Amino acid sequence: MKRVAILGGGPAGAMAAERLAAAGVRTTVIDEKLAWEKPCGGGLTWKAYSQYPFLIDNDTPKKIVTETCLAAPNAGSATLHLTKPLLIYSRFDLNRMLLERAERAGAEIEKDRVLEIERASKGWKIRTRKATLEADYCIVATGARNSLRSVGTEWSAADTMYALGYYVPGSQDRIDIQFLPQLEGYIWVFPRCGHLSVGICGKGEPASALRVRLERYMEEKGISRKDATFYGHMLPALETPAWKRNRVAGERWLAVGDAAGLVDPITGEGLYYAIRSGDLASRILLDESTEPAAKEQAYRQLIARDFGDDLAFGSCIAKKVFLGSFLLRSVPSRMVQFMRRSPRFEELMQDLFAGSQSYGDLKVRLFKNLNGTLHEVVMNFLFRRLIPNENRT
Ligand SMILES: Cc1cc2nc3c(=O)[nH]c(=O)nc-3n(C[C@H](O)[C@H](O)[C@H](O)COP(=O)(O)OP(=O)(O)OC[C@H]3O[C@@H](n4cnc5c(N)ncnc54)[C@H](O)[C@@H]3O)c2cc1C
Repeated sequence: MKRVAILGGGPAGAMAAERLAAAGVRTTVIDEKLAWEKPCGGGLTWKAYSQYPFLIDNDTPKKIVTETCLAAPNAGSATLHLTKPLLIYSRFDLNRMLLERAERAGAEIEKDRVLEIERASKGWKIRTRKATLEADYCIVATGARNSLRSVGTEWSAADTMYALGYYVPGSQDRIDIQFLPQLEGYIWVFPRCGHLSVGICGKGEPASALRVRLERYMEEKGISRKDATFYGHMLPALETPAWKRNRVAGERWLAVGDAAGLVDPITGEGLYYAIRSGDLASRILLDESTEPAAKEQAYRQLIARDFGDDLAFGSCIAKKVFLGSFLLRSVPSRMVQFMRRSPRFEELMQDLFAGSQSYGDLKVRLFKNLNGTLHEVVMNFLFRRLIPNENRT
């Protein structure tokens, strides 16, 4: 393999570029914007920085958040003191850090727009605004708005959701998460260095309706939109059938990150999967024991084993998590109540926030702990009702 072209230099493309260039492969990243403030919360879980420690061990500005407050209709709120903190970056800073790492490893970085790609005798001819270049392999990392229709995931409107919000001047130390009635999504307030990212994501609802819900929330919480900057973008949220036929690879191309639809269909977490899939794609290309013709299948299997199957399972339960009910209340409301009253349930939420609890094992853990959790909830309820505050130890 003489040259790999990486189309898009977000977290997925930059990670793949760093790994390939470090292994001595001639690697060219083409991104029309390079480092930019891509609409995003910027939150990175423990799962991401424990596997890739450079994400926390660096001088790039970031917030390390140890407190999250979850709230749901008719359930009040519950605060989680995160044993495994969440990191929050501005996307400009995160993208720049990742691109600089790729460049230091030897990747060529081009600021340019890819217009189209076509097959050449031994690979690809890539036409950009400024030039035409040839490559043996393409890594498609063009994000959720991939305009190259012949490569990357193919999704319908049902496999996406809107995410929008405001960057608001201000500061706070904790994350706020608010669930809303009849919404397969949620509102977040993420503290960043120097400002807050306040946003909403939701499936099956138009962007205009989401914006109304968000602005109402901001008014209720006294978060002013004065001097705030609006942002909005699409987010892959694949339905179960789409995971089964997801086009993540083809002859001489592999797709990574959002361009491959690799986003958690419940939380909307995409940064970890972008970075991870960039890493996995580079491993497949570098693996000399896999014949070129077998690489696409090997990549598909690796993604499925590593996290794809679990995200596909997540897509089966997403609607129940947001719109289902348990003991005559909505699931989010019960979640908030249980967090307040059951240490076991709080521990499970810690693991969900850290990204260390898979969806596949969630049901088993919930059922195994159900008696204990309900016992703790009831005891906590009775204890608080029967024993006045001042008499508690
Ligand atoms: C509002 C919102 C909030 C989010 N919050 C979080 C969060 O808190 N945590 C989290 O983990 N995930 C979050 N996500 C998801 C996360 O932003 C994405 O999953 C992540 O950015 C995917 O990275 P990527 O490299 O695949 O794509 P991108 O980051 O979208 O990068 C794609 C790159 O390709 C370039 N490009 C596209 N087309 C071309 C072309 N034709 N030629 C040249 N360059 C091109 C673009 O300029 C861009 O730099 C959020 C998403 C949204 C919309």
